[in-house]
Amino acid sequence: MVAVTKSVDSTEANELVELGVRNLAENRVDKLLEKKQSLSQKQHIKWHLIGNLQRRKVKLIINEIDCFHALDSLRLAQEIQKRAEHQIDCFIEVNVSGEESKHGVSPEELFSFIKELEGLDKVHVIGLMTMAPYDANESEVRAVFSELRQLQESVRDLNLQYAPCTELSMGMSQDFKTAIEEGATFVRIGTALFKKG
Ligand SMILES: *Cc1c(COP(=O)(O)O)cnc(C)c1O
Repeated sequence: MVAVTKSVDSTEANELVELGVRNLAENRVDKLLEKKQSLSQKQHIKWHLIGNLQRRKVKLIINEIDCFHALDSLRLAQEIQKRAEHQIDCFIEVNVSGEESKHGVSPEELFSFIKELEGLDKVHVIGLMTMAPYDANESEVRAVFSELRQLQESVRDLNLQYAPCTELSMGMSQDFKTAIEEGATFVRIGTALFKKG
């Protein structure tokens, strides 16, 4: 589980760390840097950037994180290649549901995109990520997760050294149970962790 702390302050994020949570996520560069700074005593935290990343911000963040969940363009990958001091574990974000408002590559583009990443040795594609449609019912959500899993298995079966693609980042507070049933290996949970009462 990756705990998404974007809706809480560092004090609450720290309570999770005290409870044993080791993976923290933010969707914005500035917020991640702020939290990392205030939790800098806690050296064993793994930091995940789960939101869209602008190319001009890559140099600020890329060496501060352990994992990036929203790789979706070659130009972004090239910027990571240029700025990263070590290999970065990345998920390719796939827009399975095809909503225009969503980031991510389309399922049709996925394989050519992955081919383009060959030779960028700082970009290590450990898996695929998606977000379910916002107001979909359970069977629609399940279909999206199931399609992502099929894509992930197809990429994994290519046996690319730079893209082992063994992981699936899918499922949030609303839909993590369905995501786990469909094979999620990383769930990104925010609000459900912080509900009061
Ligand atoms: C906010 C966010 C989450 C967590 O959402 P919750 O509904 O609060 O669990 C997961 N993934 C991404 C990309 C997010 O932006």
